[in-house]
Amino acid sequence: MRRSLVAANWKMNGSREFITELLGAMLKRLDVAATETDILVCPPAPYYDLCAGMLEGSAVKLGAQNAHEAQSGAFTGEIAANMLTDFDVSMVILGHSERRSDGETDEQVAHKCAAVLAQGMLPIVCVGETLQEREAGQAESVVKRQLGAVLDHCGIEALAEAVIAYEPVWAIGTGETATPEQAQQMHAFIRGTVAQQSGHSAAKMRILYGGSVNAGNAAALFAQEDIDGGLVGGASLKPDEFITICESVSK
Ligand code: PEP
Repeated sequence: MRRSLVAANWKMNGSREFITELLGAMLKRLDVAATETDILVCPPAPYYDLCAGMLEGSAVKLGAQNAHEAQSGAFTGEIAANMLTDFDVSMVILGHSERRSDGETDEQVAHKCAAVLAQGMLPIVCVGETLQEREAGQAESVVKRQLGAVLDHCGIEALAEAVIAYEPVWAIGTGETATPEQAQQMHAFIRGTVAQQSGHSAAKMRILYGGSVNAGNAAALFAQEDIDGGLVGGASLKPDEFITICESVSK
């Protein structure tokens, strides 16, 4: 049985004051929800320390929004995966479409994934097609290519521990959500693709849905057989809404 996971991606939002209030307002009820579901908050990097302190003794986990694949060196502005372990970061979002659209390649995502796994953290690898690709009938081939790069570089066994987030680009921050059936279809495709190489990895791997998840649509999405939770952007900045989403997990 896979344990569900709901991850909050705060993206580049907030301030010390805003994040203190946001996390402070949610923490007690999230802690209760975390007995049933893994819950992760991914703040902007300058606030890792603040959030790590606030999460001390809590079941809610700290996540990061990105990591660099190298351990150190001349990479101005980047953050190495090994640095994240100093803040008790347990999972790292990789290959978000907002980064892929800025030029991050499948190969870079795969190398980042290996670096994160090597540090004992779990990668949350984002995959998903654009509207143009969906309309051209390429949704599955795009997702298969993105997934394949990680599979080829990290190996099939690594995927048992990894989390995949299916995030159709056309649904991110747009208010347009994939229907539960559309999402389930792609999640089953992803699991089926992995199952061709390892039934064990396919059964263990968690697959999250992301794309305009909110308090109104979360339960129907999470009730689908192959949807193991959500990656939540905009709605995770609203305490009541995010709590309702976390409480919507039905398995
Ligand atoms: C995201 O950024 O990963 C995301 C899913 O955003 P939103 O929930 O706002 O669509």
